[in-house]
Amino acid sequence: MSSVRQHPGVPTLAAALDEALLADAPEPALVLDDGPNSTSLGLKMAGDARRVARGELTAAEFWARHDTAAAAEFGDAYRATPDPDIGRTRAGGGLCAADAAGLQCSVGDIEPLAATEGERFDTGKRWGMVLDLQKCVGCDSCTVACKAENRTPPNVTYNVVMEVEHGTVPDTRRVNMPRPCMQCENPPCVQVCPVSATYKMENGIVDIDYDRCIGCRYCLVACPYGARYSDFGLNYADESGEDGQVTSPEYGVRRGERAPFKSPIGNARKCSFCYHRLGRGEEPACVETCIGDARYFGDLNDEDSEVSRLAGSIRSFRLKEEDGTEPNVYYLR
Ligand code: SF4
Repeated sequence: MSSVRQHPGVPTLAAALDEALLADAPEPALVLDDGPNSTSLGLKMAGDARRVARGELTAAEFWARHDTAAAAEFGDAYRATPDPDIGRTRAGGGLCAADAAGLQCSVGDIEPLAATEGERFDTGKRWGMVLDLQKCVGCDSCTVACKAENRTPPNVTYNVVMEVEHGTVPDTRRVNMPRPCMQCENPPCVQVCPVSATYKMENGIVDIDYDRCIGCRYCLVACPYGARYSDFGLNYADESGEDGQVTSPEYGVRRGERAPFKSPIGNARKCSFCYHRLGRGEEPACVETCIGDARYFGDLNDEDSEVSRLAGSIRSFRLKEEDGTEPNVYYLR
């Protein structure tokens, strides 16, 4: 991370954005009270998952603490995180057929996830995003494009743009902060998941397997960025007709019409960098639609890529650096 220029008495921009995230976060107990599983266990596991990301606890210590209670709470569905990097054992990463079988889940029926053998389209890549706060005009077109692309229902918004005021009167400024999923390298959401429904792919994207997710909401509380939502089964049917009731082929899986008790209804949901579009050589919908060219997307493993150059610039910083999550989303001050 580049050094932050500190003016006396003026909070840094990064600190102001972190504070805004904190202020926007719902009360964790209220999120879980409404859910199907133990609130107290969820709060403990989420807190410890964040400690794992910060390096204060090992994954083994995490499961030693919670194994008995989680097994009792989740029964047959329970599965301690076997390997947060599932898929790294094979070339190219991602969820292959063997991994999917081991997790008792499907890999879908269309490209790119259907290409479970051989080289993947993004072998060796680590997808990342850079958001230029000086260019974002707060038009929300990215939010709308994301909703249209991923057909997210009411109460589920993968990408929001928050207005944040920072500084001390009279030297105050306002910035528009887009907030997608950070696709963390050390994701607390992966650590906390008691059924291994969410995992990190080698390409940098954190995946949710809707076939395994049981909707416990522990990941919603573990995520330091408020990037996860519960799908309560609501629809925009009145506004968008039948299209609004068909699930987007996220992660390359076609799920057809939304229906009660059918995934992703009841599941946790979040931004996937529009992974289904990447396989077609397209950028995430938010990047493609941004009228201010405030969003950059590409391969962070390629040091010559624009995202790598910008992520390494003196203007670059990440949210909640002290949380140890190592986001693959960078901001430019
Ligand atoms: Fe998981 Fe995304 Fe939250 Fe990071 S920002 S903890 S990857 S949901």
